[in-house]
Amino acid sequence: MGHNSLRQQLAQGAQERLERLRSELSRRRFDGIWVTAVPHIRYLTGFSGSAAQMLVVPEAVHFLTDDRYEEQVRQELFPLPGLTVHVTREPLLCVSTQGLLTGVRRLAFQPSVAYATVWEARRRWRPCQLVPLSGVVEELFVAKFPAEVELLRRAAQIASQVYEAVLPEVREGMSERELAAEISYRARCLGSEGDAFEIIVASGERGALPHGRASNRRLRRNELVTVDFGCVVGGYVSDMTRTFVLGRASAEQRRVYQVVLEAQERAIEALHVGMRAQDADAVARRRIAEAGYGEFFRHSLGHGIGRSVHEPPALSPRAPRRLRLPAGAVVTVEPGIYLPGRFGVRIEDDVHLTPEGARVLTTAPRELLSV
Ligand code: ZN
Ligand code: ZN
Repeated sequence: MGHNSLRQQLAQGAQERLERLRSELSRRRFDGIWVTAVPHIRYLTGFSGSAAQMLVVPEAVHFLTDDRYEEQVRQELFPLPGLTVHVTREPLLCVSTQGLLTGVRRLAFQPSVAYATVWEARRRWRPCQLVPLSGVVEELFVAKFPAEVELLRRAAQIASQVYEAVLPEVREGMSERELAAEISYRARCLGSEGDAFEIIVASGERGALPHGRASNRRLRRNELVTVDFGCVVGGYVSDMTRTFVLGRASAEQRRVYQVVLEAQERAIEALHVGMRAQDADAVARRRIAEAGYGEFFRHSLGHGIGRSVHEPPALSPRAPRRLRLPAGAVVTVEPGIYLPGRFGVRIEDDVHLTPEGARVLTTAPRELLSV
């Protein structure tokens, strides 16, 4: 797929999602929604900047941003029907003076918006009634369409290449931060637009911290090292974790690694369209519990990825029972075992759910590699 056809498909997808959003809103008796969450605005409009908000009302889409983004908006915004751009430093005032909410009686807003902002909007936008609504916008993005899967696949591909390129550079005495910098540099060289999130490098006993940011700790022989990072292509991210050993792993380290790997493989094999999100988690959790490490796997199995690193659906024991995985979902599968004060193992891959089964997008080797 070339760049232009990808962009066309993304634009068409945004348009379809806007239509679905409107019908969901009217089903819930809303006249429109005030979208303030930046990743959602990116999905719906193609805008990659960090300051914008939008109003989706029955006949129009109002996009509000400030003059820093005027040029970017011209380049990036999808051609959506009824789209009007308002360049303003006072978006709430602009909405009222331009009468953008005329005829809108009941407007949904996203609960992540600051309370003070809602307070001000309620005052300025009277008599429009503002009602919080969660979930509806997020759910539009759970199933990815082919152009999005293609970008996610490329981001996963780059992450996999980075891992293989970086391993030969790993040396005893190198700090976790140096290794993180090496990962970031290689990713950029291989075509990533940036780090999808702050790179995690956790070695030795720090490996027991599921979110151990890279520190000044130096890598030592015969220790496990966990790296967790992601790349960005066309605004879509990957998220991959590998654990490797510098030198030789002990029998216990190998055993724990094997348990995590089996838990992950079983979960990936079991994944299918229509599966309950909590059942996917349970498959991996059962294997880890059988091996006696149940209490050391304390986070959920995975999460959706897309334009942000953590999106619905959560593959979690606490996921609502009614939550089933749709075709097109792209999720991470990332079991881990963390032994406090000792070491940790996590393996994470990105998986695309198709009617034919789970397709793994990250291709880096999954067995325990030694450098
Ligand atoms: Zn990760
Ligand atoms: Zn993750």
